[in-house]
Amino acid sequence: SQTAKVRNDTAEVILPTAGLSGQLINGAWVKPVSGAMLDIINPCRSSVITTIGAADREDVDAAVAAAKAAFPSWRRLASRTRGALLTELANRVSAHSEEIARILAAETGNALRTQSRPEVMSSIEVLRYYGGTVAEQKGETLPLGPGLFSYTTREPLGVVGAIIPWNSPLVLAAVKIGMALGTGNTLVLKPAEDAPLAVIRVAELAADLFPNGVFNVVTGVGEVAGAALSGHPDVAKISFTGSVEVGKLVAHAAADRIARATLELGGKSPTIVYPDAATDDRIDGLAANIINAMRFARQGQSCTAGSRLYVHQDVFEPVLKKVVEKLAVMKIGDALDEETDIGAIINEERYSAVREFISEAVNSGAEVVTGEVPPAAGRNVGFFPKPTVLKGLTNDWRIVQEEVFGPVLVAIPWTSEVEVIEWANNTHYGLAAYIFANDLTTALNAASRIDAGWLQINRAGGQIPGMSYGGIKQSGIGSEYSIEGALEAYTARKSVTVNL
Ligand code: NAD
Repeated sequence: SQTAKVRNDTAEVILPTAGLSGQLINGAWVKPVSGAMLDIINPCRSSVITTIGAADREDVDAAVAAAKAAFPSWRRLASRTRGALLTELANRVSAHSEEIARILAAETGNALRTQSRPEVMSSIEVLRYYGGTVAEQKGETLPLGPGLFSYTTREPLGVVGAIIPWNSPLVLAAVKIGMALGTGNTLVLKPAEDAPLAVIRVAELAADLFPNGVFNVVTGVGEVAGAALSGHPDVAKISFTGSVEVGKLVAHAAADRIARATLELGGKSPTIVYPDAATDDRIDGLAANIINAMRFARQGQSCTAGSRLYVHQDVFEPVLKKVVEKLAVMKIGDALDEETDIGAIINEERYSAVREFISEAVNSGAEVVTGEVPPAAGRNVGFFPKPTVLKGLTNDWRIVQEEVFGPVLVAIPWTSEVEVIEWANNTHYGLAAYIFANDLTTALNAASRIDAGWLQINRAGGQIPGMSYGGIKQSGIGSEYSIEGALEAYTARKSVTVNL
């Protein structure tokens, strides 16, 4: 079951139509000025799904100009009216959810049943959440003594430029749309060049919903369209999700004009297992959680992947054995196949990078518990590395320090709690962490000492709307998924002082 079978028959995917021009500007789908097109590849089949227009600087200029022109009247709408439009977008996505999930599976390689359908559901939930909460854009009053009164409002910033990656494109688009539009800003959204289609389909559904120019999309490569957007003088705020490397470029571009920037970047998140979490009656659930934390069913391509596994020495071998047993029955295959648990890595470049990480570790003496050094990328096959677990390495190895963004879990035994928490914190990332301990006092004490934006204890789920999610250290600045995060990052306080 660990061998990927690439099917040649084309399972039906209904593609976007007007949206294939790639640019939604001022309420209309327009072709890029240069006429440039991008191939969108199905990573499970190495086949071209379709082509889509690729934006240049001029297209980005037009989208930003449309967003700027739409801002004055959009900001004056009642926030509950904006919320109602987000709710209506959620309804439209819901009515087309299966169609969108299939597009998402085809372009990302993320399995339909285990990943793409749940991602569409999360996107709907996120839009509904912001739809219902943006009316909470409240201000404050300040009693200043006799004769003076002061109040503070939360004002939108203007044009928001949002740039998102390919690994969870739909839910990230929903978060940016909810936060930016809900708080009264207008938006230019740039999806990732590897996986823009599901976002484009949602943009088709949104095109006649918002007033023209409120919601714009530019599709194109990062160095061109992304750079033009993050450096644009009329973009008041940049909201970026992606790698640390590009996050730094975006932050520099924003700093040059004192624009605001929020950054959701990478991670190398620790999973720490205490002995009392691996008793006979718990070990099965624990292994399932370790696999979920590692996001193996997303080929490990998740910023929150618990990719460093620290298990207490006393239970190290039995825990690994259980993890291996469970991985062995997960089916790798075509993302559109209902039976598939694990799909493909997004593209050949990323596949080869994952391969290089594993091969370097194995050459340096790491022991393969399960998996392999993936074969070199070939023609006309998908990119399917097997879930791989490595041991026999120490915390300073490159594969333990750097984000692999592939299905690779490194396992290290521990005996001293002080030392394992030091290992957990000894990285320039600080996004997520997972703690498994039956004794809650132990778990809470560990949680208080681990540097991460989001810790989960005895579970390994995804983000839930309402929680404030974001990284510390080089994992980012700002928080998403909550109304508080939206108000902090997408509005500015304005104070008015009145002489009574
Ligand atoms: P990436 O940084 O290469 O690309 C992200 C986006 O930035 C894409 O839309 C790309 O076109 C654009 N881009 C590329 N170069 C640019 C430039 N010079 N200027 C402006 N924009 C540019 O990241 P990726 O490979 O698409 O995604 C994987 C990374 O994203 C991982 O590091 C992962 O951890 C991170 N991620 C973080 C979160 C989070 O919430 N913290 C969520 C998902 C992914």
